[in-house]
Amino acid sequence: MTITRREILKAGAAAAALGASTRVPAQPLIMTPASELITRSGKRRVVIAGGGWGGMTAARHLREQAPDLEVILLERNPVFWSCPLSNKWLIDVVDTNFLVKSYMAPAKRHGYTFVQTEISEIDRAKKRVHTAQGYLDYDWLVVSAGIRYGFEAWFGNDKKAIDYTRINYPTAYIPSAEHALVKQKIHNFKGGTFVLTLPPPPHRCPPSPYERACLMAWLFKEKKLNAKIIILDPKPNVAPITGGYKLAFSELYPDIITHVPNATIKEVDPFNKVVKTAAGDFKFDDALLMAPHQAADLVWKAGLIGKTAEGKPTGWAAVNPLLYNAADDPQVFVIGDSVGAVSPQFGHYPKSGHVANRQARAVALHIAAQSRGQAPKHVMIDNLCYMLVNNSPREAIAVQFDYKLDEAGVLRQTQIDDNDRRPELWASDLKWVEYMFEDFAAG
Ligand SMILES: Cc1cc2nc3c(=O)[nH]c(=O)nc-3n(C[C@H](O)[C@H](O)[C@H](O)COP(=O)(O)OP(=O)(O)OC[C@H]3O[C@@H](n4cnc5c(N)ncnc54)[C@H](O)[C@@H]3O)c2cc1C
Repeated sequence: MTITRREILKAGAAAAALGASTRVPAQPLIMTPASELITRSGKRRVVIAGGGWGGMTAARHLREQAPDLEVILLERNPVFWSCPLSNKWLIDVVDTNFLVKSYMAPAKRHGYTFVQTEISEIDRAKKRVHTAQGYLDYDWLVVSAGIRYGFEAWFGNDKKAIDYTRINYPTAYIPSAEHALVKQKIHNFKGGTFVLTLPPPPHRCPPSPYERACLMAWLFKEKKLNAKIIILDPKPNVAPITGGYKLAFSELYPDIITHVPNATIKEVDPFNKVVKTAAGDFKFDDALLMAPHQAADLVWKAGLIGKTAEGKPTGWAAVNPLLYNAADDPQVFVIGDSVGAVSPQFGHYPKSGHVANRQARAVALHIAAQSRGQAPKHVMIDNLCYMLVNNSPREAIAVQFDYKLDEAGVLRQTQIDDNDRRPELWASDLKWVEYMFEDFAAG
């Protein structure tokens, strides 16, 4: 192809119009992806992929447990955004400052390096993480990348339907701009039918969609809207905290919330606002359409997804159930919501920030032990979740999970639902989150 003089002049004029910003700087501001992001200091290095609940906790505790290791935390977002308590933020029970935390301050305080970057690939054969700004070699890798939305289960590779649903019916289950969209949607709702589809288990924070329904119902009641919320649940019953939620639905929001069990999705038509399920077809005026959840894209890219007996991907990371290392690599760990089934009794750990925090603390100990040439010892974890169901007065319900190993070495789970909604549980929720933020995000 030849370029005419006229085209060259046109390009020059366009560049001049853009001004100084188009000039090539003397020093490139961003290193090319082919170069090393941070040169090695001589210390052995842990790279943490994902700075959410699991990743931030791992970074802090690794510095404490293994101070002679270099720790680098990689995260795409400029600030930490907490999904826990975000349902409360949707109806202004807590403000934005409550959920947003700095990445730089805790990194400085605890002595690890934070880099805001998009991780593009993980090459486990080379022990290398590729990012938008360059690559990093690691001795240990901790992947805490959260979840992805599996829209393919509804739409195959129909990108138009996926994009339309993502933009128009967001769910805010991943730290992102979706949270603001969902808040705007809820506050702008003028009445009619609002549908919430629940993903099939396992999914992120199982009790939280019901909490969201309660808090939305509270807001709609306050605004005296003629509104219905229909929860399309693929499960046969509300779970967990079955009794507490059912009482909240029937006593606080009887005219607003309808829970539809066994509503496995058959078809979603976002353009005509219809969801077809095994329990009937539902038209909506507005909706939050939660597609099935899976481990984050990064876990797939790193070749860490488990396989079913038939050789199909499970959608979740295959890890050692007690130590969280990859089945084929003792120095690569996956923690948090990406983790796959760990027990024949209960399957997956609940996908919660509490569990991610506990697993991160355990993995910090495992890596510290390995770095000293010792065998890592498993640490039992627990889980605790408080869910606000009423905003005036503020009353919450809760669920606690404990774990132990049986004689055969199988992980066993005990679940205790606290169904009695009361203000003390909301006070406990605030104490819980304060403790958690102090543990990993305090600067
Ligand atoms: C509405 C709601 C309410 C909840 N309530 C509670 C609660 O009350 N209690 C509780 O314990 N849990 C709760 N949870 C669950 C909790 O948010 C998750 O279980 C927890 O965040 C999991 O931690 P994680 O580290 O696995 O993932 P995340 O916290 O999501 O962190 C993953 C991080 O990885 C980053 N990342 C992913 N891919 C890349 C990439 N390629 N490059 C760079 N960065 C990347 C993401 O940006 C993200 O910051 C709630 C969740 C929701 C949505």
